[in-house]
Amino acid sequence: TEPKLPGFVPLYQSWESFYTRNIYRRIRDCWNRPVASGAGAELDVVERVSTDSGWNFTNTGKTIRVMNLGSYNYLGFSQNNGPCADAAEESTRKYGMSFCSSPQQLGYSELHKELDELVAQFLGMEAAFTMPMGFATNSMNMPCLVGKGSLILSDSLNHASLVLGSRLSGATIRTYKHNNMRDLEDKLRTAVIEGQPRTRRPWKKILIVVEGVYSMEGSIIRLPDVVRLKKKYKAYIYLDEAHSVGALGPNGKGVVDYFGLDPRDIDVMMGTFTKSFGAAGGYIGGSKSLVRHLRVNSHAAIYSTSMSPCVLQQTISSMKIIMGLDNTLLGKRKIQQLKWNTRYFRHRLHKMGFIIYGNKDSPVVPMLMFMPTKVAAFARMCLDRGLGVVVVGFPATPIIECRARFCVSAAHTKEQLDKALAIINEMGDMLGLKYSTMKVPTY
Ligand code: PMP
Repeated sequence: TEPKLPGFVPLYQSWESFYTRNIYRRIRDCWNRPVASGAGAELDVVERVSTDSGWNFTNTGKTIRVMNLGSYNYLGFSQNNGPCADAAEESTRKYGMSFCSSPQQLGYSELHKELDELVAQFLGMEAAFTMPMGFATNSMNMPCLVGKGSLILSDSLNHASLVLGSRLSGATIRTYKHNNMRDLEDKLRTAVIEGQPRTRRPWKKILIVVEGVYSMEGSIIRLPDVVRLKKKYKAYIYLDEAHSVGALGPNGKGVVDYFGLDPRDIDVMMGTFTKSFGAAGGYIGGSKSLVRHLRVNSHAAIYSTSMSPCVLQQTISSMKIIMGLDNTLLGKRKIQQLKWNTRYFRHRLHKMGFIIYGNKDSPVVPMLMFMPTKVAAFARMCLDRGLGVVVVGFPATPIIECRARFCVSAAHTKEQLDKALAIINEMGDMLGLKYSTMKVPTY
């Protein structure tokens, strides 16, 4: 039955309530549609059919294999037949499934130590420490870095975990327009000149919080400008590389590598293992003193169980491949393949007449649909044709900027991408999604 939310309007009295109903319908369908395989270039989903024009769905008990354009498996490491699977299996046999203790107690193993050191080496930072969840890496560590009397300057499109971490910290938060360096500089200048409200004392710290690749926009942060501004106004940078680490830069080291910057210009380098590494968890890289401080004070390190052995091993193996420490060119080839696939896919979509957002090298490819009612139809009709996609709408995006969010992977072959493009093209014609080539009638 429909969830009863405060203020929920049952009739279609506004765009918002109309849209909310559609979203519930879609979410209910997603939650009831278990995925029945690993998230590779293809994946199995449970087949469900509607008995009453899309309102309720029932399981047929069968699974269908579809092409996967929705998971963040950027380098294709999550496959169960992938190059990291054997080592992960072995580590499970050796250590079991969990250390059943927090890292500050009996949960810090030799594998944790190996991963912490490897991450620091990979990032080119003095030290790093890792946690079992990317979301908690942001939300639980930010409160240890800044507090009352400090100012956070946050990009308006920052991820929910960054927003939560900022709020929990108790620092004053001001947002600046997405990737707009003029607005950021205005806010920095004002902050430095005016200081804290009422007392006019200087801010204890000013922390600029940004992401490498924005997961809903596919845009890449203008990091060289942010670094210039942080130096000019003596601020600090907190960079979330969740979608850029492994996926961007000639060595797959993220947005810092992409722009050829010195990693030590970034004060707090955060990232997750859920995307390019095909695993789970997050890390923070920085100076030795920063990492020591977080290890002792972070709620995530004290009150939460440490990463599980097979996840650790999967992350270690995939990171070593990216770094070329396995003495093969597999990592380099995967990074190149992802870059090629991304540019090809974006170029073809653009040529077909779709409006797509973001940078040409961003493997996150948002395709705008504008009409909220088309979102669920697009996802379902793609699935019926053998293509699994993710669609996003309000509140993750503004109401009329709902979109499909494709994730390109190095695991996709050109044939698979062509097949997906043909399906998207057909959907585009059927649902009227090709806005950039649409003929607008003149009266
Ligand atoms: N930061 C960003 C920018 C993200 O997009 C996400 C989730 N996709 C997270 C943090 C949280 O990471 P995880 O899913 O690994 O918990």
